[in-house]
Amino acid sequence: MNIALIAHDKKKNDLIQFALAYKGILGKHKLYATGTTGLKVTEATGLEIHRFQSGPLGGDQEIGACIANNAMDMVIFFRDPLTAQPHEPDVSALIRLCDVYAVPLATNMGTAEILIHGLERGDLKWRAIVNDKEIDDDYGKE
Ligand code: PGA
Repeated sequence: MNIALIAHDKKKNDLIQFALAYKGILGKHKLYATGTTGLKVTEATGLEIHRFQSGPLGGDQEIGACIANNAMDMVIFFRDPLTAQPHEPDVSALIRLCDVYAVPLATNMGTAEILIHGLERGDLKWRAIVNDKEIDDDYGKE
């Protein structure tokens, strides 16, 4: 499965803790992230993560494009509901596309826990039927 990880600045530490706790599960999948999130999670966990641009510089839109191309199977997006984001339209667009394409999306730790256990249990195997795409290794590389 292709899994996207994104966290706004005040939620990055939460995502790092989540990734550390579920490193064993996440490590079995292809991981993608916005720039800073990917860097921090890789540094903390050693997980291999393909990094797109930083969120405010277009990273959310790049992940949105993957969703529109049916190339992302799950999105874990720890958004910060208490801080205004300069790229709020991109954030809304990404969430909207997850709904358009029925891509499982967790926007907080509680839902992420459920999704990650579902992933490990095989609940997301239906995604393999609708997604036979891998993202080109050079796509989005800096
Ligand atoms: P970042 O972007 O991982 O580059 O910080 C996340 C976001 O703000 O959408």
